Amino acid sequence: MKKDVRDYIRTIADFPHEGILFRDVTTLFADPRGFRMAIDQLLHPYAGVRFDKVVGLEARGFILGGAVAHQLSAGFVPIRKKGKLPGTVISQEYKLEYGEAIVEIHDDAIKPGERVLVVDDLLATGGTAEAGIKLIERLGGQIIGCAFIIDLPDLGGRRRLEALGMEVHALCA
Ligand code: IMP
Repeated sequence: MKKDVRDYIRTIADFPHEGILFRDVTTLFADPRGFRMAIDQLLHPYAGVRFDKVVGLEARGFILGGAVAHQLSAGFVPIRKKGKLPGTVISQEYKLEYGEAIVEIHDDAIKPGERVLVVDDLLATGGTAEAGIKLIERLGGQIIGCAFIIDLPDLGGRRRLEALGMEVHALCA
């Protein structure tokens, strides 16, 4: 009997490159009990807290963020890779292990002062989340928390986000 969110997560070796142990949350999402448990636990620290927007980071952050936004009666806003959003966007560049990437948000998706929860499946170096945080803050959003299913603590993402003044919530390492 699976008891914990981590029991539903599969690890796949050498994806997307040799030497990488990829945490595959599709098995968690596919299980009715596992998915409900994950959403309930993501929401747990925010009982009674008001949010205007949940921001999901492409792509698994969309799946989690939609369910979380529904539960919080908040709106959902996607942060997407460059070139995917149809309206006027602001962009943020960030470093990858090899090279750079750009993420974007619609410039009218968050109003100044709106209370925001950031959601993604996994926190590694924190580079992706930091780029998202910068976009939200450039629009004047107030980030109340950042919630992840998995935190890989050795990669330093939590420390990096906490250094930016973020409160980080993760369900497992
Ligand atoms: P970071 O920017 O180094 O923190 O990497 C986090 C981003 O990469 C998130 O958007 C994750 O979805 C993705 N990611 C990195 N490693 C994994 C993994 O093992 N499983 C699922 N997603 C991953």
